[in-house]
Amino acid sequence: MARYRGPACKLCRREGTKLFLKGNRCLTEKCSVDRRAYAPGEHGQAAARRRKVSEYAKQLREKQKVKRIYGVSERQFRNTFERVRKLPGVTGTNLLVALETRLDNVVHRMGFAASRKAARQLVRHRHIEVNGRVVNVPSFSIRPSDEVRLAEKSRDLVAVRASLEGLARATPVSWIIVDSEKVAGKVTEMPTRDMIPIAAQEQLIVELYSK
Ligand code: SF4
Repeated sequence: MARYRGPACKLCRREGTKLFLKGNRCLTEKCSVDRRAYAPGEHGQAAARRRKVSEYAKQLREKQKVKRIYGVSERQFRNTFERVRKLPGVTGTNLLVALETRLDNVVHRMGFAASRKAARQLVRHRHIEVNGRVVNVPSFSIRPSDEVRLAEKSRDLVAVRASLEGLARATPVSWIIVDSEKVAGKVTEMPTRDMIPIAAQEQLIVELYSK
């Protein structure tokens, strides 16, 4: 299925929670979830009044929410799930770890881009190096001790300078260290579930895909 190109706020309203898809603009603009706390579309308000939600609907919404937070397509999400379900450990946690250690997410977590969407642009446009080599694949998996940096020649571009303003506001996670002077960062260890600040019930996604 093609990537969604409509308004980001509509996705938040559909999931009934703030997904912070517009980066810093979510902190300054009036949030649609606060203004209209029901799903978009002509049946949105009626659906909000309906009390009974099936188990399947809950699982589906949780999957859609996590997929939208990380900005991946259904196929990428499913492929990631199929890959991690063969790994030892808790599948739901492994799924979140795989999504967290994607290059685009790591670039966002390091504060080089205000949103995952902007981080993906930086990666695709060859502004990001991993261990000294340009990597332009947003789904590239980052491993512990990998160094991610903004390419030297890219730091003066207007779009990149705007992203770098986010560095000061970034709240890095405990498994990433950032050197703002060098505009580089390192993943120190693979995150555990409590190190991933995403409010999701990943077990529901495992149940959905295990049917
Ligand atoms: Fe979501 Fe609110 Fe940000 Fe829009 S402003 S993307 S509704 S969190």
